[in-house]
Amino acid sequence: MTRVLSVASECVPLIKTGGLADVVGALPGALAVHGVDMRVLLPGYRQVIDKLAAPTVAAEYGDLFGGPARVLKAPLGDAKSKQVLYVLEAPHLFDRDGGPYMDPKGNDWRDNPERFAALSSVAAMIGADGIEDWHPQILHCHDWQAGFAPLYLRELGAAGRVSTLMTIHNIAFQGMASASRIGTLGLPRTGFHQRGYEFWDSVSALKAGLVYSDKLSTVSPTYASELMTKEFGMGLDGVLRERQEDMVGILNGIDEALWTPPYKTIAEKAKHKAALRKELDLPDDWPGPLCVVISRLTEQKGLDILMQALPALLDRGGQLALLGSGNPGLEEAFQRKAQKHPGVAVRIGYDEDLAQRLMAGGDAILVPSRFEPCGLTQLYGLRYGTLPLVALTGGLADTVINASPAGLAAGCATGLQFHPVSAQALAQAMMRLITLYQDKETWTRMMTNAMASPVSWTHSAAKYAALYQDMVKAKQP
Ligand code: ADP
Repeated sequence: MTRVLSVASECVPLIKTGGLADVVGALPGALAVHGVDMRVLLPGYRQVIDKLAAPTVAAEYGDLFGGPARVLKAPLGDAKSKQVLYVLEAPHLFDRDGGPYMDPKGNDWRDNPERFAALSSVAAMIGADGIEDWHPQILHCHDWQAGFAPLYLRELGAAGRVSTLMTIHNIAFQGMASASRIGTLGLPRTGFHQRGYEFWDSVSALKAGLVYSDKLSTVSPTYASELMTKEFGMGLDGVLRERQEDMVGILNGIDEALWTPPYKTIAEKAKHKAALRKELDLPDDWPGPLCVVISRLTEQKGLDILMQALPALLDRGGQLALLGSGNPGLEEAFQRKAQKHPGVAVRIGYDEDLAQRLMAGGDAILVPSRFEPCGLTQLYGLRYGTLPLVALTGGLADTVINASPAGLAAGCATGLQFHPVSAQALAQAMMRLITLYQDKETWTRMMTNAMASPVSWTHSAAKYAALYQDMVKAKQP
């Protein structure tokens, strides 16, 4: 068994704000069949502690970043789950009202650098000393929240034995902190320079991870190469180019136990569309496709562009059902659109059950992201036969087969891609979508292809397992 500690700030089914949680929650199960004993280390947010089934105490610390802390051990999932979860219980850091990163007013917690440095530091201690009788061979660090772990591990003198993998789920979040916090973060001052964790005169937890870990990965091959460019690297492209040889892109899969369509055949899908239209008060006699969006409403996701391009869909009898939350301006703009236009339904908020019903009842899922490391909703769309219409970027480029003339002629298309990310290109793509939708034979073929697409973890889990094995070998004396 290869022993891996997966260090992350979110994990399904305990706490989720985005795709990171789905991935962290799915990996242990997907990797178990490959002989990997992956355990997750998660912060003990109040919402997480409340959900633990029969936790036991696995480690205790008298003072961790200003207060006492413990590591609790519990099954990941329900009491019957074989996967092990470690939770860092540190009330002074994590027992608060609000979200994982933000207070109830939507402001970042001011001590976020210390909160996640504490998580990273405990990960490094577990790496160096083990926990109870378990000694991980690899720390798999996800995003900036785990970014300091490889550096702390070095400081503990254990980086020669324990290997580290830093995975970028989204390079937009860089874990910046003022250099005045180097002391409270327990960082070695010798690392504060251009080739260390210094970034624009500040400290970056993500950059620390990128510089000090043994291997790097991200969540799709296309994003792996995009990250090395000025356009997508967000200032870290130079760092990544230097480490090109150590970087791989491994696609995310989806947890098929959680995301299984409530139908076996394409014909049955109509029933779910009718139910969804009824639920959302959308007219049931419009001839065009019912397009759905399930998304954070942020600049990244390109929904401002969708707003501009929407007439191309609505004027041709198409409909839009959007579920999301985020940017208040966008929330309001979509709500106003829904009030004015009978073909638009908008639900602001976070609702996993509604997300499932949208996926089951929609004809197409729209993902017009400006950048998208992997993207999960297009994968759910494929599995549900809800054809993805996506921007040609990152994981969206790697997972959807475009209904180009060539894709259609070869009979393998699973969705539509557009480029560049502009309102005009999206409007044209929506018109193509409508034309395809009217051609029942082609549409059915595409649905069949989509539902047969390989979106499970099978392939990617094998790739992680092989990578871990190489990493373990590289540390053997
Ligand atoms: P990101 O991680 O950038 O937000 P992904 O596509 O990788 O984007 O993952 C988003 C995940 O969050 C998906 O599982 C999606 O279904 C879910 N999601 C996003 N917004 C909502 C929402 N408002 N309600 C329910 N689920 C949502």
